[in-house]
Amino acid sequence: MRFETLAIHSGRQPDPTTGALATPIYQTSTFVFEDVGVTRGYDYSRTANPTRKALENCIAELEGGKAGFAFATGMAAETTVMHLLKAGDHVISGDDIYGGTYRLFEEVMKDFGLEFTFLRMDDGKRIEEAIRPNTRMIWIETPSNPLLNIIDIEMVVDIARRHNLMTVADNTFPTPYFLRPIEYGVDLVVHSTTKYLNGHCDVVGGAVVTNTDELTERVQFLLNALGTCASPFDCWLVLRGIKTLPVRMMRQEENAAQVAAYLEKHPKVEKVFYPGLKSHPGHEIAMRQMGGFGSVVSFEIEGGIEAVNSFLRSVTIFSLAESLGGVDSLVEHPATMSHASMPEDVRRGVGITDSLIRLSVGLENVDDLIEDLAQALES
Ligand SMILES: *Cc1c(COP(=O)(O)O)cnc(C)c1O
Repeated sequence: MRFETLAIHSGRQPDPTTGALATPIYQTSTFVFEDVGVTRGYDYSRTANPTRKALENCIAELEGGKAGFAFATGMAAETTVMHLLKAGDHVISGDDIYGGTYRLFEEVMKDFGLEFTFLRMDDGKRIEEAIRPNTRMIWIETPSNPLLNIIDIEMVVDIARRHNLMTVADNTFPTPYFLRPIEYGVDLVVHSTTKYLNGHCDVVGGAVVTNTDELTERVQFLLNALGTCASPFDCWLVLRGIKTLPVRMMRQEENAAQVAAYLEKHPKVEKVFYPGLKSHPGHEIAMRQMGGFGSVVSFEIEGGIEAVNSFLRSVTIFSLAESLGGVDSLVEHPATMSHASMPEDVRRGVGITDSLIRLSVGLENVDDLIEDLAQALES
């Protein structure tokens, strides 16, 4: 079956007791045993829950992995993945990752004895030189947040395999509709389902998809041991959101491409970051590796922080809010919002300037969106 069909049917079947088409919300903490030592497959909702299972199976199938797991948030998913490691292990990570991921690594996991090297992932030699005897994992995010840098996944997986390292891809931005890292040999995919997979700005959630039986067993163990799982209701919302993922991704991308082209020509815009533009350094790899470019567009505005503030105060359709990937268009200022948890020197070093603005282009009429940007740039 093709993606659009899987998005609607994967993981789901009519409810066996009533025939309900929509997956019921199994809002229960516990399940009654049929007999001593005999369950119907469920005993306690932290370990497994039927609504969560439907979502987990759905995401696993969309990503082409062995098994899926649903978490309370994207950060809960990432926290669980980091528990695959132990004190003394070393991780190589992209340098312009999600701000919260950077904070988890630097300000939490480091205190448990993990070591991290952050680097730009565009050069295989640089990655190989960073490998130490205790390196266990390479963490990538492509397109990256908020600069939309593109990483060549095949190149990274090739290096990882030669050095026996686990690869993890944060696939929140492209979603499996535009990119399936497991097809390129990545071991683990993580998601913030808060973003495109749910797509309606009304839930926080996370997911992990595994590519080996060993990782499946370990992640299932950790989810239960750490208790990082998602609630049945949140899983139900994400399941519903996924049904329209393909149409949302396609239309939001169309809108974003028009917004990016408009901004690129605007005299008050210094630079536009969007992998769909020919001017983007990762355009060629993105063309080869992805089925689409997504709908996050970042740009630098002329006139420094005052121009930024005036722009952010003037938009009316774009809401000034963190997050992305929903049907509502959002605008945010990475330096003071999503990436405020990165120290200033690190942030500037990776290229997140004070003039950078990030748009998440939603499903409104694109002419309204462009008119909104035009009047805000004029202000
Ligand atoms: C939002 C986000 C996360 C964190 O997810 P939450 O659901 O907010 O915990 C991780 N990675 C990326 C790329 C994100 O955009």
